[in-house]
Amino acid sequence: MISTSKNQIMKIALCYKSEKIADETISSIKEKILSYGFELDDSKPDVVLFIGGDGTFLRAVHQYYNELSKVKFVGLCKGHLGFFYSYDESELDVLFSDLKRGVCKSESHHLLSAKVDNEEIYAINEIRIESPFHTLISDVYINGESLETFRGNGLVVSTSLGSTAYNKSLGGAVIYPQIPSMELSEIAPINNTIYHSLHSSLIVDKNSEIVLKTKTDNILLGYDHLNKNLHLASSISLRLSDKVVILLRNKDYSYTKLLKSKFVGDK
Ligand code: NAD
Repeated sequence: MISTSKNQIMKIALCYKSEKIADETISSIKEKILSYGFELDDSKPDVVLFIGGDGTFLRAVHQYYNELSKVKFVGLCKGHLGFFYSYDESELDVLFSDLKRGVCKSESHHLLSAKVDNEEIYAINEIRIESPFHTLISDVYINGESLETFRGNGLVVSTSLGSTAYNKSLGGAVIYPQIPSMELSEIAPINNTIYHSLHSSLIVDKNSEIVLKTKTDNILLGYDHLNKNLHLASSISLRLSDKVVILLRNKDYSYTKLLKSKFVGDK
């Protein structure tokens, strides 16, 4: 019998995009889970096994958002190696054997939280405001002090784990995920003799607060794969949350190797 710390059988939930993974693949993974002595349980799992690409991890975190203190996530990649994975599809036995022996590497990642008017939203990669058709105008405050009035297409605040996602496409720095921080990056800033912004990504420490006071209507608020419309000018207060996501990795996993394989290549 496979035990959790409370001496119970470990319960595993599967997360995947059903249109992308064949039913037979899921059936054989389920059989393997049972053969290792684990239980299948989607409602109160100890471990969420996400299968597919990086977007599947984002969806899994949001799906189990209310259970984050009890759940650990582990990823099995299908196709190319994703950023949140460390077991590929040929390593199913290694994955279950590592889970059984409790030898996976465990990483804690703080969620990013934003208070938007009276609502709170969370993200694992980033929270962003965007306005693709009209100039977005937003005052930016860091720890209560005014930094700038930004004009452009948008602003992205990312976590260290999310620094390799949208943030990197904007020229933001990659931050080792074990350094909890927030990074503010600009989308198509207007910079001329009249309007100026920092025109560079800005990394702040884990205790900082970034406030964006938008001055334009009809802005899109994006958080990971999700989004909502802000119809009126809003105040958005961003902080690193106390809520953490526990991500399990292969014991041989290395972030430097992952960066090299995803972005640099072997040559
Ligand atoms: P998706 O799953 O197709 O993801 C989009 C791409 O982002 C994929 O190539 C995925 O591998 C990659 N990605 C996601 N998180 C990553 C991370 N932490 N590090 C490196 N790469 C990562 O699409 P989706 O489900 O809508 O995912 C939403 C995410 O897409 C957002 O969180 C955002 O970071 C990313 N995104 C990127 C851009 C861009 O780079 N221009 C634009 C919009 C959204």
